Amino acid sequence: MAENTFDVVVIGGGPGGYVCAIRAAQLGFKVACVEKRGTLGGTCLNVGCIPSKALLSASEKFEEAGHGLAKMGVKVGGVELDLPAMMAFKDDVVKSNVNGVEFLFKKNKITWLKGHGRITAPGTVEVAGETTETVTASKAIVIATGSDVTPLPGLTIDETTIVSSTGALTLAEVPKRLAVIGGGVIGLELGSVWGRLGAEVTVVEFLDKILPTMDGEISKQMQRILGKQGMTFKLGTKVTGAVPGDSGVKLTLEPAKGGAAEELEADVVLVAIGRRPYTDSLGLDEVGVERDNRGRVKVDHHFQTNVPGIYAIGDVIEGPMLAHKAEDEGVVLAEQLAGQASHVNHDVIPGVVYTWPEVASVGKTEEELKAAGVAYKAGKFPFTANGRARAINMTDGFVKVLADARTDKVLGVHMVGPNVGELVSELCVAMEFGASAEDIARTCHAHPTLAEVTKEAALAVDGRALHM
Ligand code: FAD
Ligand code: NAD
Repeated sequence: MAENTFDVVVIGGGPGGYVCAIRAAQLGFKVACVEKRGTLGGTCLNVGCIPSKALLSASEKFEEAGHGLAKMGVKVGGVELDLPAMMAFKDDVVKSNVNGVEFLFKKNKITWLKGHGRITAPGTVEVAGETTETVTASKAIVIATGSDVTPLPGLTIDETTIVSSTGALTLAEVPKRLAVIGGGVIGLELGSVWGRLGAEVTVVEFLDKILPTMDGEISKQMQRILGKQGMTFKLGTKVTGAVPGDSGVKLTLEPAKGGAAEELEADVVLVAIGRRPYTDSLGLDEVGVERDNRGRVKVDHHFQTNVPGIYAIGDVIEGPMLAHKAEDEGVVLAEQLAGQASHVNHDVIPGVVYTWPEVASVGKTEEELKAAGVAYKAGKFPFTANGRARAINMTDGFVKVLADARTDKVLGVHMVGPNVGELVSELCVAMEFGASAEDIARTCHAHPTLAEVTKEAALAVDGRALHM
């Protein structure tokens, strides 16, 4: 085969695209991945999951050293922030991750086509980089072009004073006042980073609760906990104007349901009102690939678009915009292309918010079960009653297990607490195996561990929690 003919051409080198490319190569396909960014790994590794978690973890340690350890008898004096060093740490973490993907491409003999990919016909992609070349895909073109920041009309993102998540990962100094528009995942995670480093953080949220798509109890608990940490919330509020000044921005806020306007001054404004699918200059209209009313590429259960041979995965299609969802879709699509029966269980995709404490959720919320008329039982157990949580001095939060009232099958689990982003994987495995609450309750959990809270919550489904 010539250099420009491939079995599979993936457009986009993020978690969806690069994982799909690796799995397809493992299965024997000749694979190319078109990526226009200077490094592989997409939003997640370059300007998303990885840099944000590096800053979350570094800022957590800064705060813990400054305030959190005295109660445990550890006195730390002279704690200072070296922001350039913290940023350099974050950049190193990103670099080692993106270089890791490049290494994996070499190992799996995947060709990285550097440039912007545009589908010119089914089976044909034009790549505009230093030169422009056309490559063919005999088996599949995979659209994995991800998502981009949703802009807010009236606010021009300059990535210095009015920033998206990308600018919020590279601020040159800690803003005195940070206004965050959007009380979702990005707003709370990056608001936490800068709040811990000293900013006064005000979150302006259009709806009447933060993390609005999560279980209602989580929203309430997190608002209380983050409020205690110093975050201020203006709920049910919309931003109707922004005037840049000499130092920062003056925002005009109005109650979402109408009423008197007020002003909020901030040195930096973070716009975090969601992300939208990214399909710019991809040639979709020319080749007739359909999108839905939110701009997402429409696919069937096999990730195929309405045009045979063109597939799509990840943030650019329906479903939660999460790296692990994109990765799983990439693996499954590659296996399906190889003729294997493989599928993604979209009912069991965990969502984690990496604040402190963390939030983790999988399956249905109470609100969803009520709306669907499903009879369920709830078992809840707090971290305050767990020995290990007390021993590590981190007792905020709870685990709530929701089980079918008739069959006891676990339908959803919602957690706030230390390391719940790790604990939730146990529940994902349980739910994949169709476990009942009783199955979890009867499984021996090591003592003393945080995971015992999960077991106790499962016992609580039938009113049998032992330590409450
Ligand atoms: P992307 O990662 O967006 O990758 C798409 C790639 O395609 C990009 O590199 C882009 O340059 C390239 N591209 C686009 N069009 C073309 C073209 N025409 N030609 C060539 N290349 C093209 N998710 C989590 O699960 N956990 C987290 O902790 C988490 N944290 C996040 C934090 C932040 C600040 C942000 C912004 C997002 C976070 N996410 C997180 C979401 C996660 O980043 C996305 O869900 C994930 O990156 C989606 O993967 P993807 O492969 O679909 O797209
Ligand atoms: P989001 O959907 O999580 O939150 C956006 C918030 O903004 C919502 O609460 C919404 O009600 C609010 N909002 C919308 N319009 C508004 C307006 N005009 N004024 C005020 N508030 C408004 O979106 P995000 O936080 O921008 O994150 C984008 C995506 O990135 C999410 O889908 C998320 O899954 C992903 N992400 C995931 C993680 C993680 O998994 N830990 C971290 C960061 C981002």
